[in-house]
Amino acid sequence: MSSQDLIVVGAGPAGLMAALEAARAGARPLILEKTPRAGTKILASGGTRCNLTTTLGSRDAARLFGRSGERFLRGPFQALSPQALRDAFSEWGVPTQVAPLEKVFPVSGRARDVRDALLKVTLAAGVEIQYDTPLLSIAQGEGTDAPWVLRTPNNDRLESKAVILAAGGKSYPLTGTTGDGYGWLKSLGLPLIEPRPSLVPLRSNAGWVRELAGVSLQDCELFLHPSDGSPMVSRRRPMLFTHRGLSGPGPMDLSGRISAMGDNLRVDLRADLLPEIDRDTLRDELLSLGSIPGRPSTARLLKGKLPKRLIAPIFAACGVPIDLPAATLSKSQRHGLIEALKRLPLPVQGTLGYDQAEVTAGGLDLPALDSRTMQVHNRKGLFVCGELLDLDGPIGGLNFQAAFATGLMAGRAAARSITGN
Ligand SMILES: Cc1cc2nc3c(=O)[nH]c(=O)nc-3n(C[C@H](O)[C@H](O)[C@H](O)COP(=O)(O)OP(=O)(O)OC[C@H]3O[C@@H](n4cnc5c(N)ncnc54)[C@H](O)[C@@H]3O)c2cc1C
Repeated sequence: MSSQDLIVVGAGPAGLMAALEAARAGARPLILEKTPRAGTKILASGGTRCNLTTTLGSRDAARLFGRSGERFLRGPFQALSPQALRDAFSEWGVPTQVAPLEKVFPVSGRARDVRDALLKVTLAAGVEIQYDTPLLSIAQGEGTDAPWVLRTPNNDRLESKAVILAAGGKSYPLTGTTGDGYGWLKSLGLPLIEPRPSLVPLRSNAGWVRELAGVSLQDCELFLHPSDGSPMVSRRRPMLFTHRGLSGPGPMDLSGRISAMGDNLRVDLRADLLPEIDRDTLRDELLSLGSIPGRPSTARLLKGKLPKRLIAPIFAACGVPIDLPAATLSKSQRHGLIEALKRLPLPVQGTLGYDQAEVTAGGLDLPALDSRTMQVHNRKGLFVCGELLDLDGPIGGLNFQAAFATGLMAGRAAARSITGN
């Protein structure tokens, strides 16, 4: 059995940042990485452009992780703010630029630059990475001060005073993340919030939805009324119709709530297709359209406001004939059309699952660890960071931000626990 001061499990953004910070604080970390490469998800991220963080300030960014996530991330996001992360990458030779929806990308537009810079600085700090080395199990020896014992293939055993678990979730399993970390948490008797796919496109069996594949709305507000009685959630973000259902930031941001419904799936999802225009304005526009000579059709209301292909399904949804002259529109038809525009029901049967999910929601229950150190309570020397925690944010660089910030906290605290500084 060989002995180490600090072992980091997983060379994703959380693990690399943790190891880098630990090395800078005087530790000699060894990273065990299951696959032959580091930062695979960074390479795949943001359409290979890597949306590495957000333009939001620390507080606003933390708020997007729900109430418990916000409380937990307040400290980490102060220690490593989105701006500080941008500054760090800039110093490492990867300047960043701002894109719509508060996103931040490398100026080069290449995710590889982000991964390479992080890897280079981590290795330069003295971190060692052992590739193709999956952790199989972890246990603590007898006594609270006993080292952690880690088992890797060929019955190899490693001992370490401190361990940082940064093995990610179980989304995009082809990249190497197959949910191994959840098994370790369970075997250690730690509380686990059931993992579920998040930031994943939604599945719809409705013919009209699939026929709209390729149609996108840049401004659309979605309303989800969960069937489990939890409060309604809404998200105003772009939406895209696909041949399998709905995608884009709006539907994907709500997908975690939908996959949480599990088998009791009765999704009440509605879209405000014109969030900039209120009901009264639409009503006035319809009335004035009705008084224009030449009997224009009701559909003219939507000219230039919505993609052409979307217009027929909207009329079908409210039962108003698409060629009905606006002058003959009854009060109830007017009401029906306005409701179809402001709350169009979107039939959804679930999500596309882990294979297409950008993140895994659920994970180690946050009260189980100290957000100042990422150390698990009453488990001296055991730290957890990144997506393995019960943290998931919306699209927009928030998940990398959380991985980097929690990794930094874990690395610093783990080094302190070893060096005593
Ligand atoms: C297609 C795609 C696009 C994305 N785009 C964005 C984006 O633009 N912006 C954003 O903020 N987020 C994005 N995400 C989410 C983001 O990639 C994750 O939130 C982030 O990578 C989590 O970091 P992590 O270090 O916790 O885990 P991971 O990045 O998943 O890293 C975990 C590492 O642990 C390794 N590992 C797993 N099991 C073991 C084991 N048994 N032993 C040893 N090593 C193990 C894995 O191989 C992996 O290298 C995207 C995700 C996907 C899939």
